[in-house]
Amino acid sequence: MSSSKKKSKAPSKSLSKLLRLPQGPVSMAGLDASATPGYPGKGKADAPALTEALGPQVSDLQEMLYASGRSNPETAPRVLVVLQGMDTSGKGGVIRHAMGLVDPQGIDLTAFKAPTPQEREHKYLWRIRKALPGAGKIGIFDRSHYEDVLVVRVENLVAEDVWSKRYDEINRFEAGLAESGTRIVKCMLNVSADEQKARLAERLEDPTKYWKYNPADVDSRAKWPAYMEAYEELLEKCNTDAAPWYVIPADRKWYRNWAVAELLRETLAGMQLTWPAAEFDVEAEKLRVAAT
Ligand code: AMP
Ligand code: MG
Repeated sequence: MSSSKKKSKAPSKSLSKLLRLPQGPVSMAGLDASATPGYPGKGKADAPALTEALGPQVSDLQEMLYASGRSNPETAPRVLVVLQGMDTSGKGGVIRHAMGLVDPQGIDLTAFKAPTPQEREHKYLWRIRKALPGAGKIGIFDRSHYEDVLVVRVENLVAEDVWSKRYDEINRFEAGLAESGTRIVKCMLNVSADEQKARLAERLEDPTKYWKYNPADVDSRAKWPAYMEAYEELLEKCNTDAAPWYVIPADRKWYRNWAVAELLRETLAGMQLTWPAAEFDVEAEKLRVAAT
């Protein structure tokens, strides 16, 4: 071995393994929102550099994915990143800092709000299907079909016998997607109740953050235990190998952003992507270019 030791300590276990939620019953109280599993640096100060350092590899892999989609629109793989979390958990921050490493042309981003009148005329998966990533794309869902077993359940927007059937439906839906070539990565951004309070209070202290403040968030905050129960059930029931859940500790924004970027890198790296072969005679084309 040479004396020039590698500086970054690569995690001995992949981050995907560290953050994958184990199958079985889930207790949100048992998941530490301020932990930093697998973080290779010292702390907040080196996080932006470590996150940016993932950029070149993520970006190359994404370009390969995109290229496959251009050459094989029928069969090329896709990636779907589902982001869920309580208000202030940082879905927007993750999109900016982790997904921001990728060429925007390769991304299909959809934010799901309360359904529009048109969306309400259809089943809950209708708008989800319409937003699925195309060949070679990375789809990002800022909220998702999981709202249909979260807010819908907590706020009694449909009857229990309706939402309670959705876990199995969602599993079948996601298994079908995986089967047809979509790599699904579901991230639950786990912010603690205390940290959420601090973030909401901060928004009220800063006029540049008023736009992020929604008085309704305080009403959902009041229903925290009901939300945690709803999360526990969906995390337990919809944590399949075809569409696994990762729980990302989100009290430290710098860790959260790095972790999702690294998860994306590992996901893409694990897809055995290759550059599409030329669909023309390379040597003949070289001669043609040379002759011009
Ligand atoms: P935000 O992500 O902060 O812009 O807020 C979007 C809002 O839309 C949240 O309050 C969600 O709970 C709500 N929302 C998203 N999906 C649904 C759904 N299927 N049914 C009802 N409300 C939803
Ligand atoms: Mg909000």
